[in-house]
Amino acid sequence: MTNEFKRPDGRKIDELREVEAKVGVVPNADGSAMFRSGKTIAIAAVYGPKKMHPQHQQNPATGQLRCDYTMISFSVSERIRPGKNRRAMEISEITKWALEPVLLLEKYPNQVVDVFIDIIQADAGTRCAGINAASMALAHAGIPMRNLVASVSVGKLDKNLVVDLTKEEEDFEEGEGATDIPVSMTPDGKVTHMQLDGKIRTKELQDVLDMAKTACGKIYEVQKKALKDSINMGGKDE
Ligand code: ADP
Repeated sequence: MTNEFKRPDGRKIDELREVEAKVGVVPNADGSAMFRSGKTIAIAAVYGPKKMHPQHQQNPATGQLRCDYTMISFSVSERIRPGKNRRAMEISEITKWALEPVLLLEKYPNQVVDVFIDIIQADAGTRCAGINAASMALAHAGIPMRNLVASVSVGKLDKNLVVDLTKEEEDFEEGEGATDIPVSMTPDGKVTHMQLDGKIRTKELQDVLDMAKTACGKIYEVQKKALKDSINMGGKDE
């Protein structure tokens, strides 16, 4: 890892984009939150726990989490075709896997918690921003949780590891090109989700996890503050 690597936006290799979080952005929902990293903005709204429909999907042993990730039509410069696509279905499933381990859903047999995530604006790292927003929204909805989950994408640009990739960085083609490694974890460093398609050495993967842990720690502080602020405001906007 070299410290001299120049990122297109001048950030240090371990520097996040500007991060912003707000809780209670969708008044009709049982819980909601916005998470922004640079130009990537995610909104999450939680409905439930409520009786699972269709009924044949009910599980008397536990409650269930359902996640629905969507990139809205104007989130990128070329309008996105409305409706479900394979990518959105994959990210919805991954979001569920990233969040389920911290939820105490066994308290809600036969019930479901629905999480809707809309990406308002996309500049890479949308699955991570969605998970960050959803984690806050679940806490805001009062769903019992062991911990929050924070998520960040660590990238390998040629041989350099950097955190929180932009779209421009994801498209990096020099040397070995770009590998994007989204990681989600609890503040005590338990990984709930990691994806990797590309080549990486074992030692580098350890460095990736170390960088993700530090970055997720910073995101966790932002999430925690947003949740505290929402309580201080009595759950209402200023
Ligand atoms: P992530 O957003 O989690 O990094 P991907 O790696 O699948 O997920 O996508 C990377 C980025 O590519 C997105 O954040 C977005 O900026 C862009 N992108 C994804 N899908 C589309 C699309 N249909 N049209 C234009 N840009 C897209």
